[in-house]
Amino acid sequence: MFASLSGKVAIVTGGSKGIGKGIAKVFARQGVKIMIAARGEQDAKEAVDDIIAAGGQADYCLCDVSNWQDVQALLSKTLETYGKIDILCANAGIFPQQKMIDMSADDWDKVMSTNLKSTFLTVKACLPHFAKAGQGRVIVTSSITGPVTGYPGWSHYGASKSGQLGFIKTAAMELAPYNTTINAVMPGNIMTEGLADLGEEYLTSMAASIPLKRLGSVEDIGNAALFFATDEASYITGQQMVVDGGQILPESLDAINEMT
Ligand code: NAP
Repeated sequence: MFASLSGKVAIVTGGSKGIGKGIAKVFARQGVKIMIAARGEQDAKEAVDDIIAAGGQADYCLCDVSNWQDVQALLSKTLETYGKIDILCANAGIFPQQKMIDMSADDWDKVMSTNLKSTFLTVKACLPHFAKAGQGRVIVTSSITGPVTGYPGWSHYGASKSGQLGFIKTAAMELAPYNTTINAVMPGNIMTEGLADLGEEYLTSMAASIPLKRLGSVEDIGNAALFFATDEASYITGQQMVVDGGQILPESLDAINEMT
C-alpha cells in the first residue's frame, strides 16, 4: 500500500489529450490537484471537465511548453490557483513522421523545442519552488523510440526522446540537493487519439509485434508515472522505466512467431 498523494499539486503538460490526459486522470483519482498545460483550449477544458465530473480537482493553462514566457506563466497560474507545486509531469510532445530527405531544419527544431527544450524549461521553472519546499518530483514522458528502437520518419523525434534521458541524468544530480527526484517513463505504443491517426493497418501490425498482444492504455503510463511520484519511490532518481508490453524484447519476427 502506497502513502497517499492526496492534496499534492501536479502540472501535467500535454494533459489535454492522450497519455497526458491519462496521467492527469490517474493522479486526480488519487486526490492530486491537476494543472493541465496545452495550447488548445477546447481539449484542455474537456479534460478538466472530465476530472471534475469524476470528483477530482483540475484547471488548465494555455501554454506553449517550448516558450519560456508561457512556461513561467504556467507556474504563476499554478501557484495562484493551488499555492504550491509538488509534481511536474513533463509529457507534452509531438511526433510528425518525416523522413530526413523531406525534413527541413525548421521541422527538426520544432520537434526538439516541443519535446526536449520544453523538458528543460518546465523543470527550470519548477526548480526554485521545489528548492524552497525542500521536495519535488519530476516525471518525464520519453519513449522507447530513440533510446531503444528506431522507426523511419522519426529521427528528430527519436533524438528528442533520447535527449530527455540524457537530460534527466544530470538533472537528477542538480535536483538531489532539494530532495527532488526526476525519472522517466518510456512508453511503447499507447492507444491515443494521436496514434489512431496513424491508421488501422499500423495499429494492427503493431499489436501483433507486442508480446502482450495489445497496445498500452494511457492508464498504463499514468500508473507508472504515479509510482515515481509516491513517497515509496523517493530513493529512485535519474532512472527510466520501459512500459511497453514487452515490445522491445523479441530479437526477430521469428522470436514473436515462436510464442504461439
Ligand atoms: P497526443 O495525444 O498528440 O497529445 C499531445 C499533448 O501534448 C496534447 O495535450 C497537446 O495539446 C500537447 N502539446 C503538443 N505540443 C504542445 C506545445 N507546444 N505546448 C503545450 N502542449 C503541447 O500525444 P501522446 O501520444 O499522448 O504523447 C504524449 C507524450 O507521450 C509525448 O511526449 C510522446 O512523445 C510520448 N509517447 C507517446 C507514445 C504513444 O504511443 N502515444 C509512445 C511513446 C511516447 P495541444 O496540441 O493542444 O497543445
